[in-house]
Amino acid sequence: MRNAPRLEIDLKKIEHNARMLVERLALKGISVTGVTKAVLGSTEVCETLIKAGVTSLGDSRIENIKEMCGEHLPVPLILIRSPMLSQLEQVVDWARISFNTEIKVIEQLSYLSERNNKIHEIVLMVELGDLREGIMPKDLINIVRKIIHLPNIHLKGIGSNLACNSGVIPDDKNMAELSSLADMLEDTFKIKLEFISGGNSANLSWAFNVKDTGRINNIRIGEAIFLGCDPLDRKDIEGLHSDAITLIAEVIESKPKPSMPWGGIAQTAFGIKHSLIDRGIISQSILAIGLQDTDAEGLTPPVNIQILGSSSDHIILETDLPLGSEVKFGLNYSAMLRAMTSPFITKEYLSHDTKIL
Ligand SMILES: *Cc1c(COP(=O)(O)O)cnc(C)c1O
Repeated sequence: MRNAPRLEIDLKKIEHNARMLVERLALKGISVTGVTKAVLGSTEVCETLIKAGVTSLGDSRIENIKEMCGEHLPVPLILIRSPMLSQLEQVVDWARISFNTEIKVIEQLSYLSERNNKIHEIVLMVELGDLREGIMPKDLINIVRKIIHLPNIHLKGIGSNLACNSGVIPDDKNMAELSSLADMLEDTFKIKLEFISGGNSANLSWAFNVKDTGRINNIRIGEAIFLGCDPLDRKDIEGLHSDAITLIAEVIESKPKPSMPWGGIAQTAFGIKHSLIDRGIISQSILAIGLQDTDAEGLTPPVNIQILGSSSDHIILETDLPLGSEVKFGLNYSAMLRAMTSPFITKEYLSHDTKIL
C-alpha cells in the first residue's frame, strides 16, 4: 500500500553524492563528517554515509545521536551544537566528541567523564565573523589554558561555522585564520590538534578551488549530500543528484474554480494577503499536506504546475489532476527538514529509482 504523504529517500543517490564529495575532498586532504540532523539521525542514512566513506557522523541533537547508537558504528559520533548544561549526562553517554564554546560546559563534561570513567573529546568552535557559535579568536588562548589541565577531556581540535547566521562566505582569509590559530595553539601549548574542521557545505567551493587548504582537514556536510546543491548560491553541484530526497502528496479535491476569491478580503490563515489577477476559471487541485508538514515555499513542483497557496493542512495547485493521484516535489533544506520532522509523513527508503509524475 502506498502511504501519502511520504518522503522518498533514495539511498543509492545519497551514497553517490556522499562518495563523490568524500573522493573530491580526499584529494585536498579533507575528511568528511556526514551531518545527519536533516534526516533525524536515520539509521539507513547513517549506514549509507559510512559506506560512502565519511570518517565521522555529526548531529546537532543529542536525541538523534542516542538513536544512532554509536557503539555499533565504526565511526565516532559528534554533537555539533554546543551542549545544553541540562543535557551533559546524555552528551557524555552518547557522543564521543562535542563542539564547544563555553568553559563552564567543558568543566562539567570533564567532571562527568571522570565520574563515568570515559574520555570525552572536544572541538573548540571559533568565531570567524558569521556571528553564530564560536569563541572570539583573542579569547582562545585563555580558554585552552584552562582546558588542557582538565581530567578526562581531550582537545581534539578547533573548528568554525560560516554561511549560517550572517551568510559569511568561507574564503582564503577566514580559513587561513583558522589554520594559523591551530598553529598558534600548538606552539603555545606544545600540543597537537588533529581535527581542524573548516565548516559546512558552504565550504565546498572554497575547498574545490583553493590550492592550499592549509591546516583544514575536515568539513561537515549535510545539505550538499542530501540535496546536491551548494548553499552559497543553491546551484546544483556538478555530478551530484539533486533529487535524492523527494516529497509525494495526494490530491483530495480537484475542481475548476474562479481564479479570484469573492467576498470581503482580509488576511489569510498565515497572514499573507495574495495579490491576484483575474484569469477566469482555472483548474485547482488540493493536496493533503500543509505547512504543519513542510515549507511550501521550499517545494519545487513538477514542470508546468504552479503552487497557488497553502495553509496548515493544504497545498493548492493550479492543475487538474484526478482525485487520488500523487504529485512529487523537489525540496530545499527547510522543506526537507520540516518534512522529515513531521510525524504525518512516512519516510520510505529506496535503493532504486521509481517513477511517479
Ligand atoms: C548543520 C550543520 C552543519 C552541516 O551544514 P550543511 O549546510 O547541511 O552542510 C555543519 N556544522 C554545523 C555546526 C551545523 O550545525
